[in-house]
Amino acid sequence: KLAVDVEKIRKDFPILQREVNGYPLVYFDNAATSQTPQQVMDVIVDYYSNYNANIHRGVHSLSQEATDKYEAARKTIQKHFNAEKSYEIILTSGTTHGINLVASGFASLLKEGDEILVSALEHHSNIVPWQMICEKSGAKLKVIPMNEDGEIVYSEFENLLTEKTQIVFLNHVSNALGTVNPIKKIIDKAHSKGAAVLIDGAQAAPHIKADVQELDVDFYVASAHKMCGPTGVGMLYGKEEWLKKLPPYQGGGEMIATVTFEKTTYADLPHKFEAGTPNICGGIAFGAALDYMNAIGFDEIAAYEQELLKYATEELLKIEGVKLYGIAKEKTSVISFNIEGLHPYDIGTIVDKLGIAVRTGHHCAQPIMDFYKIPGTVRASFSFYNTKAEIDSFIEAVKKAKMMLS
Ligand code: PMP
Repeated sequence: KLAVDVEKIRKDFPILQREVNGYPLVYFDNAATSQTPQQVMDVIVDYYSNYNANIHRGVHSLSQEATDKYEAARKTIQKHFNAEKSYEIILTSGTTHGINLVASGFASLLKEGDEILVSALEHHSNIVPWQMICEKSGAKLKVIPMNEDGEIVYSEFENLLTEKTQIVFLNHVSNALGTVNPIKKIIDKAHSKGAAVLIDGAQAAPHIKADVQELDVDFYVASAHKMCGPTGVGMLYGKEEWLKKLPPYQGGGEMIATVTFEKTTYADLPHKFEAGTPNICGGIAFGAALDYMNAIGFDEIAAYEQELLKYATEELLKIEGVKLYGIAKEKTSVISFNIEGLHPYDIGTIVDKLGIAVRTGHHCAQPIMDFYKIPGTVRASFSFYNTKAEIDSFIEAVKKAKMMLS
């Protein structure tokens, strides 16, 4: 028996019924963005049909309704990630926004001689904001290396971590390889030296329910669009003490207590970090997406996706010349591969002609590609609404691509 009722689930996703280039769509680009169930679309339509209004300001009924629903979504997010307080959840435009918010705040805390630690497995969005902050503050960026299997070298992390380290930032799961990093161990070790930790949960959140209190993490960020929600919205969890310590990221409406030309005082959390009109509908839909996934169950989702991963890995390895990248012991449902002598882009183009959506390229993780000395990979990433039959179609398509290109 399957861990999830995939046939029933598929009916919730209208897009899975469509054809691409005359073939049934096989959507294996879930690590880039996930598809949206009807239940979440209904919430979006309901918002614009019935209570579209700006929040937090109006006394009128619609504004009150929108505010209540938006704050209810914040509570859903709080509960999902098990934050202690709802105001420790900042609604952002996505993971990138959350990281930039924290990095920019750290610019005012870091000084010349301080060090910050990143892993070699990062998405560009967890590298570049910190490089910009190093330029401003004079802090030094150090890199925890990776090994051939696509794992962080933990012993090197221990060597690099010193009293000078102010913050360690890495992903919970690598988007390019699917590696699950030992974040609990890293957080505890970093804290033992007094360093803060930011975890980029963009790729973990669709598969693993993170408990921020149990992890004792200082910051955790994710994007709604990778977990059945819309684009342009995401979350930043920050421990209260940290969110109080960091300066506001953007100035504007909503984030103030009082404004005069002489001096402005800032609003309390979470509004201090939520300048301007937010993505109100998106936030509400994010809450609905979490409700949808929780109704299926994260344990069930993970168990099913691991079955898909195992099956696809076995089938893919039967094709001669296939090389997998990232064979960590603990992985989410992501397969990154190449075929000897072929360019990933060409494989991606041919399988697309057969209706199959995969990602090709460096996956915004050029340092990983440099490590393997390759221009990129083909990445197939599975969600709980994918099937073994779709994997069969994918394998056939890869074989066809290989034949045509060889
Ligand atoms: N970090 C990781 C690990 C990701 O996979 C992504 C999205 N590909 C991001 C950060 C950036 O997320 P977003 O584009 O939603 O801000």
